[in-house]
Amino acid sequence: MADPKGFMTTPRETPKRRPVDVRIQDWREVYEPQSMEHLQKQAGRCMDCGIPFCHSGCPLGNLIPEWNDLIFRGDKVEAIDRLHVTNNFPEFTGRLCPAPCETACVVGINRDAVTIKQIELRTIEEAFDDNNVKPLAPERLTGKTVAVIGSGPAGLAAAQQLTRAGHTVAVYERAEKIGGLLRYGIPEFKMEKHIVDRRLAQMEQEGTRFRPGVDIGVDLTGAQLRSTYDAIVLAIGATQWRDLPIPGRENKGIYQAMEFLPWGNMQALGEIKESPINVAGKHVVILGGGDTGADCLGTSVRQGAASVTQLEIMPRPTDERPSSQPWPTYPMIYRVSSAHEELDNRVFSVSTQEFIGDGNGNLKALKIVETKFENGKFEPVPGSEKEIPADFVFLAMGFTGPEKSAIIEQLEVGHDERGNIARDENFQSTEEGIFVAGDAGRGQSLIVWAIAEGRAAAAAVDRYLVGETQLPSPIEPTTRSLMV
Ligand SMILES: Cc1cc2nc3c(=O)[nH]c(=O)nc-3n(C[C@H](O)[C@H](O)[C@H](O)COP(=O)(O)OP(=O)(O)OC[C@H]3O[C@@H](n4cnc5c(N)ncnc54)[C@H](O)[C@@H]3O)c2cc1C
Repeated sequence: MADPKGFMTTPRETPKRRPVDVRIQDWREVYEPQSMEHLQKQAGRCMDCGIPFCHSGCPLGNLIPEWNDLIFRGDKVEAIDRLHVTNNFPEFTGRLCPAPCETACVVGINRDAVTIKQIELRTIEEAFDDNNVKPLAPERLTGKTVAVIGSGPAGLAAAQQLTRAGHTVAVYERAEKIGGLLRYGIPEFKMEKHIVDRRLAQMEQEGTRFRPGVDIGVDLTGAQLRSTYDAIVLAIGATQWRDLPIPGRENKGIYQAMEFLPWGNMQALGEIKESPINVAGKHVVILGGGDTGADCLGTSVRQGAASVTQLEIMPRPTDERPSSQPWPTYPMIYRVSSAHEELDNRVFSVSTQEFIGDGNGNLKALKIVETKFENGKFEPVPGSEKEIPADFVFLAMGFTGPEKSAIIEQLEVGHDERGNIARDENFQSTEEGIFVAGDAGRGQSLIVWAIAEGRAAAAAVDRYLVGETQLPSPIEPTTRSLMV
């Protein structure tokens, strides 16, 4: 512990966001980098509390007090080594994770938590700047081959671990580019895509082979994969979206969030001049108050929407931790994301009853009603119905599980009771040699969980292929059922 009084003498300071009126003119990342000097002081707030609850708050088991101390002392090289021991991609989690480690930080019991996420982010960015992120190619090859299907954070983490263990790994992705939701879902203003490309370059140098534009189950069959590879990792995500089949759904202008966001990203990168779903000058309503909804909001603001309203069926969360969600749990509190700082027109405790068309098949308005939670369900409040104008609606109401695609049938893997791909405590599906990692097995979740699962599944695959493994696993078979 470098600074025994740091948590008492230094207030928590998070990085600044670029001014709203400037940043909504472009698609670049919202946050300004914090100086190393600031960061070291912030790292000095870690009180090395003896039982670091942040370790267990983090699905990856990041060794947080250790790298906080190293950063405080200015040892950037050792700090990134400690960080990489548990996390393949700190540049993704440092930008995008909701940081359950911080809500479990012991300082946070009666003061502001340590800025763990920010320290993680700068540690990896300094390492890239200083050319300290080197490829770690294996010293010898095992002769075993693995196909990873899906190139989101789970597939990438599994592929990197297995490549480093000496297996020959190919990552198949049906989209044109590698990255999964990191590339197509998460907007540029949350993470610029060159950040993904930079890590892919390291992986390629290590020997991972990328095969984008290959839809497994269509372009290559399950049988072909089975006969070519010794093991398969299914990391196909949980992208089956939830719809809202109410009157008027057929009107034009109603899209799923994931029909809108990928175009926004391509527009941001200059890959297309204008998005085919362009909300400039239009009234937008977003159904769903979560992260995906906030991403639609930031994208709509940058396209120049006339208005954006975000509707949420749940009541407004409290500003402070509810007593039912005490420290160190991750609480449901009222949060203001960067997109909400740009335009916050959230309406809570409402549901949509009807999409109203203009008579020519185009959406014109929404009929909404206030709701009350009674007898275990949301009930409409009589007399509270009203119409709000809407040229576009984005449905951001979550995902129901992995898509029921051809590959699932061909590989004959089973499903669990929640519709995800079933797997045992070793991440193996109902079929021998086929493993499951990330959202495909746990349902739509978080990047940090996807990386943790990719690492754990890789350890299981390695053990399956060669009988033992040196790969670390953040999720041991005995504890997996406890970590949901
Ligand atoms: C809009 C949005 C914003 C989000 N923001 C955040 C955030 O800020 N922070 C956070 O922690 N989490 C966020 N999440 C959740 C997070 O992105 C996911 O939990 C994570 O990406 C899951 O990783 P994965 O590797 O399991 O799957 P995915 O990232 O979904 O990747 C699966 C990949 O498999 C590919 N695939 C599927 N079937 C096939 C096939 N048959 N052949 C070849 N390829 C196939 C898909 O094309 C896809 O690229 C967000 C999710 C969404 C939708």
